[in-house]
Amino acid sequence: MYMMDLSLRQFEDVLKSGVDTAILPIGMVEAHGPHCSLGTDVLIPREFLRRLDRIIGEKVVIGAEISYGHSWALQSFKGTIDVSVEAFSNYVFEVGKEFHRSGFKNLVFFNGHGGNINSLNTVGEKLADLGLTILMINWWVDYRDTIKTIAAEPGHAGEDETSLVLAISESLADTSQVGNHQIELSPKIKYRNWGRSIFPEGYLGNAGAATVEKGEKLYQAMIPLMLKDFEDMWKVNKPVQTQI
Ligand SMILES: [Zn+2]
Repeated sequence: MYMMDLSLRQFEDVLKSGVDTAILPIGMVEAHGPHCSLGTDVLIPREFLRRLDRIIGEKVVIGAEISYGHSWALQSFKGTIDVSVEAFSNYVFEVGKEFHRSGFKNLVFFNGHGGNINSLNTVGEKLADLGLTILMINWWVDYRDTIKTIAAEPGHAGEDETSLVLAISESLADTSQVGNHQIELSPKIKYRNWGRSIFPEGYLGNAGAATVEKGEKLYQAMIPLMLKDFEDMWKVNKPVQTQI
């Protein structure tokens, strides 16, 4: 269920009924090649959660989205609204702390953007220290092996991401303008304007091969993997047998 749709009374009743898991969708407004919506990293988590809500909606509260994040790599492109690591991390921590104060035991960071990961790892540890169980979902990292069986050349606004956007609406991406852009350089190497050489047109991967059908297949393949991650998270708060 969606927190934004609940009244105070309904929200209190949900908490009383034992629902103890909140999901925080986190994205980014950022250049995604010449072809994909600037909102890609918000729209894809939104679509995953719309589908997950149909399956586990009675057990989770989906919070409002955090749509602006951190992007060191693509900050030089127009359309990227980059928030510093410090401001972003502090903000997500404060939001997470409020979910904890509201009574939730589990908090899911449902993240759509790579530049957010370092901050979210740190914030997740701080929130875990408060007593929350944190599940971090970075779909393109966590389920990469499965993704590659459907979209062989994934990447930022690449075959996988563009397909997922097309499956939401064909009006959100135009693949007639893009092809296949690959890098040789190890991502372990960083230097000023690194993003411009890795993503010369703001994308990476075989964006030209993206299709609606692949996007639909990707959603369908990843949802069960996400459900398994939720089940694993819920095991954490089950009473454990202690040895005497
Ligand atoms: Zn993206």
